[in-house]
Parts: sequence; C-alpha cells; structure tokens
Amino acid sequence: MGPKCPNEAMAESKPNLYGMEREELRSVLEPLEVPRFHADQIYRWMYHRRVLDPGGWTDLPKNLRERLAERYRIEPGTISGTAGDDDGTIKYRIDLPEGGQIEAVSMIQDDRTTLCLSSQVGCALGCTFCLTAKMGLKRNLTAGEILGQVHLLVEDRDLGDAPCNIVYMGMGEPLHNYDGVTASTRLLTDPSGPGWSRKRLTLSTAGMVPAIIRLAGEPIRPRLAVSLNATTDEVRNRLMPVNRKYPLAVLLDACRQFSLQSRDPVTFEYVLLAGVNDSDGDIRRLARIVRDHHAKLNLIPFNAVPDWLEFESPDDHRVRKIRDTLLDMGIPVSVRWSRGRDARAACGQLAML
Ligand code: SAH
Repeated sequence: MGPKCPNEAMAESKPNLYGMEREELRSVLEPLEVPRFHADQIYRWMYHRRVLDPGGWTDLPKNLRERLAERYRIEPGTISGTAGDDDGTIKYRIDLPEGGQIEAVSMIQDDRTTLCLSSQVGCALGCTFCLTAKMGLKRNLTAGEILGQVHLLVEDRDLGDAPCNIVYMGMGEPLHNYDGVTASTRLLTDPSGPGWSRKRLTLSTAGMVPAIIRLAGEPIRPRLAVSLNATTDEVRNRLMPVNRKYPLAVLLDACRQFSLQSRDPVTFEYVLLAGVNDSDGDIRRLARIVRDHHAKLNLIPFNAVPDWLEFESPDDHRVRKIRDTLLDMGIPVSVRWSRGRDARAACGQLAML
C-alpha cells in the first residue's frame, strides 16, 4: 500500500466533537480562543437541535464555523444497512466513527417507540444463549458512538422530539463499558442537550455486581433491568459464565441495594429456554425471588438462531401458561413477545457474523 494522501491522513486524525460533554467541549475549544458561550451554543446545536453541520450553526461567526469544520469531525456514525420486519421493527447496521460496526434497533408499537442501543462491539461475557457472545469483545463504544445511535435512529424514523424509550439492551454488556455508558446517560438527560427523562432509559445487565453498586450512587442513572435467566447457581453457571464470579445470592443482594438506594424497582428479565429453566419448580423459585425484591418481571421467549444457538423456546401455549401462573401469584409480569425475529433484530440475535 502506498502512503496515504495528506487529506485522508488529516481527516483520520481530526478529533470528533460529537459525544463530548459540556466541560470537555469548552476545554477542547479553549486553545482556539472559542469563548465558553460559543462552546455551549455548539453543544446545543449538536445535541438539542441535532444539527451537525457547522455551516448550519447560524448564531456563530462564520469564520469560527469554517475553522471548526476544518479542524474537527462531528460524526455520530452512519447507517450502512437496514433490515425491516413487518411488525414495525427496523434493525440498523451502523458504521462507527471510530471504526467497526454495530447494530441498533428501533421498535414502533402502537404509539410507543423504543430504541435499543449497543454499548460494545461484541461482548466478553459468553452467555451461551446469545448470538452477540459468539463475536467475542472487540471494543467499548465511546459516549458519542452510543448517543450517535439515538441521533441516527431519531433522524431516520423522523421522530423529532416525540418521547421514546431507550434501552441499553443491544450488543454488549453496558456495565462493562461503565464510563462510556454513564457519559451517554448524562448527555441524553441534559435538559440543554436531548433532554431525555431518565425514567425513559433502562439499562440491562447480565449482573456485573460492583458496577451495579456504583451505578446506584450516580446522581443520574437509568432504570435497571437484570438478566436473571435462572433460579439456581447450577443452571445460571451453565448459561451465564459471569455467574461464577458473581453468584445469584451476591447479585440479588446488589439488586436489593440498588432498588433501596435509587428507590426504583428493578426489573428481572428471564429468557425462557425449554427444558432448561422453565419447569414448574423454576417458576415457583422465580416468583419468590421477584416478590422478595419487590421487582417486576419480563419473560423473554428465547429467540432462536439456527446453526448458532442450541436452545429452544417453550411453545407459545406454555409461555402463556407460565405468565398466567405468575399473574395468579400476584407477580407483575409481562412477556416480551419477540419483535423483529425475521430481521434477526430480536433480543440475543444481534451480531456482525
Ligand atoms: N448484556 C446485557 C444486555 C444485552 S442482552 C444483558 O445481559 O442484560 C439483552 C437481553 O436479551 C438480556 O436479558 C438477555 O438475557 C436477552 N437475550 C440474549 N440472548 C437472547 C436470545 N437468544 N433470546 C432471547 N433473549 C435473549
């Protein structure tokens, strides 16, 4: 390969302003003698108004806009492919500004929109029922790459400022990328940025205990969902290697602490795997755990990926029966009937394989 042309090399080395928090933006722009109030205007353009071309930042001096465009990138990533499903689900393949690709999903059902974000390229946790695990971990996403997914999906679906829910449930383990994810939460909830209500954000973890405890102490934190998926250490060890490090009792203690400290009930997610974790005994133990923690429960019938994952979902009849049994026991339970299965956009089906 020959040497890169100078322009290309320069473009690569330009810092990306997209994803910087207010203070960082102010201090990065200080050497250019950009006053703080201009830095704050840029912040509003990028995150509140979603205008990323400095040419459109009309309340800034023209020569400053030109200087910014020369020296910086403002890149949330680009959509390089989509797969749609009849049920209103779209899976997006996104080329990341710092290299590599991930997937993100938007789901529109009745008048409720949910955006499902990735937090890592791949995942290190190796859950045996999840396709993303097969990729291994490539790297953490930056805050800008996480927020960028929201920007791209909101623009693509023309959602404007309509409220929607955001779930950190795409590729990766969000609490394994603590700094990137919490920075993206601060950005999303900043009233002079996108201004999302934190109540509309949910982070799902496989059970990274120290990070759950740390998150409970954050001034701004999303709601917490925990992928329980089994009611005994024996089964959970088989499904989720993270359980060997943080076994059920330790995880459940952390959940209790989180909900006490944050005054938010935790949601337990439970992927139903036929013959593995769906016996009557499992469901009884599950009910006890959920009740003891004043938690909510979300059942997820397993989404198959033939040739890759070896499990099966119980049939719909059995899923309804499990739900009804739990309802009869007074457990607040809902079923996440799979959305986007045909487009391989459902839980556990995201991977660049
Ligand atoms: N790493 C985080 C978030 C990503 S997974 C976590 O583990 O919570 C999001 C949800 O999808 C988790 O509850 C996970 O248990 C579930 N999931 C993974 N693979 C699945 C599959 N094949 N079918 C159904 N749900 C799956």
